[in-house]
Amino acid sequence: MNQSRQHIAIVGAGIMGRCLAWRLSDSGHDITLFDQDAIDTGQAAAYTAAGMLAPYSELEAAEDSIFQLGQHSLSLWKKWLKVWQAEHLWRGNGTLVIAHRQDQASLERFNRQLGAKLSEYDSETKSVRHLNKQQIAELEPELAERFEQATYLSREACLDNHGLLQTMAKALQSCGIQWRSPCKVHHIAPGRITSESGQEKFDHVFDCRGMGAKQQLPDLRAVRGELIHVQAQDVELTHMVRLMHPRYRLYLVPKANREYVLGATQIEAEDYSPMSVRSALELLSALYAIHPGFAEARILENRSNCRPALPDNQPRIQSQSGLTEINGLFRHGFLLAPALADICVRRWQNEAAFSGEMAPLSRSLFYTASPEFVQ
Ligand SMILES: Cc1cc2nc3c(=O)[nH]c(=O)nc-3n(C[C@H](O)[C@H](O)[C@H](O)COP(=O)(O)OP(=O)(O)OC[C@H]3O[C@@H](n4cnc5c(N)ncnc54)[C@H](O)[C@@H]3O)c2cc1C
Repeated sequence: MNQSRQHIAIVGAGIMGRCLAWRLSDSGHDITLFDQDAIDTGQAAAYTAAGMLAPYSELEAAEDSIFQLGQHSLSLWKKWLKVWQAEHLWRGNGTLVIAHRQDQASLERFNRQLGAKLSEYDSETKSVRHLNKQQIAELEPELAERFEQATYLSREACLDNHGLLQTMAKALQSCGIQWRSPCKVHHIAPGRITSESGQEKFDHVFDCRGMGAKQQLPDLRAVRGELIHVQAQDVELTHMVRLMHPRYRLYLVPKANREYVLGATQIEAEDYSPMSVRSALELLSALYAIHPGFAEARILENRSNCRPALPDNQPRIQSQSGLTEINGLFRHGFLLAPALADICVRRWQNEAAFSGEMAPLSRSLFYTASPEFVQ
């Protein structure tokens, strides 16, 4: 490592800030993590998220870089969960992509686009299987009655987001990082932050505030997402499900105790108000159409929040001497944060070892680069 022990501030303890804190503390730096909310609760988008790690499903509408970063994150999550002895937070048995008979064209289009994009990655062919009714019955019996075809994305996974945020908080505290919360940061400048406790100096500041950084990043926008938690004693699904539909992409994520997360809307608005009737109607009727057993499900809660997004819907690492801003994780915070943290720290530390396949990708992520970062 070329960097000596540094005194670092990270502002924002959402999923990006926590991943970065973990990655940096692993390299022996002295870290202070600030968040405006208490450690185990808050307004972070990370608390609302479904926790899916779905690089294949997302590839249909996302850039290849999201897929590559996602693959890197999948392996980092597995490694980190092992260190934290928290493998139980990972459910890794893949996604079934389905469509009703009248929407078969949407599924076919999804398959064509995924196939075209994945053709560049030879090793990926086995991760996508096209299933007939009988094969659906073997994998997810309760879906076979209504669906004749499905696409199975075997390498996708899902994390228990609340459990994970708690586990990371414990792991970070036990490795000695200083956690300042609730503590709102009012101003961020290179090597300096101003919070309610006054102004403090650091060797480097990382800004991971998500939507909280809006004033500093004028092209950052909010994309509202709403989702519903239900409990359904009459339904037993074990895989994540994506329903292809001409107007929206609905997902269903099984959690413990027959609970399911149903989501999510994607609305161009900075609107944190409760779920609209229209969204509830659309999501719930789609849910009932997947499996009639959901008729007797109990609605546990609905949640809405905003995803921090940049104009190209891709993440961006913006750096200058003393300050790095990481933002724009959009609908992929859990999918991208470990990989972004790893790339950021490796470049910041000027690691000679950083010459693998992530190196060219990382160059496209850095918006500006100070001399502290390798080009
Ligand atoms: C409905 C919905 C479903 C989603 N599902 C998924 C999914 O399945 N998979 C996936 O990968 N992603 C998903 N996402 C996206 C994911 O939640 C976001 O991409 C991710 O949370 C962004 O991470 P972040 O750390 O940048 O921001 P956040 O998670 O929002 O964290 C920002 C943190 O900064 C703090 N902060 C802000 N301002 C200040 C300040 N001035 N001072 C101190 N602290 C401050 C906040 O309190 C917060 O803790 C979903 C999002 C939504 C809304």
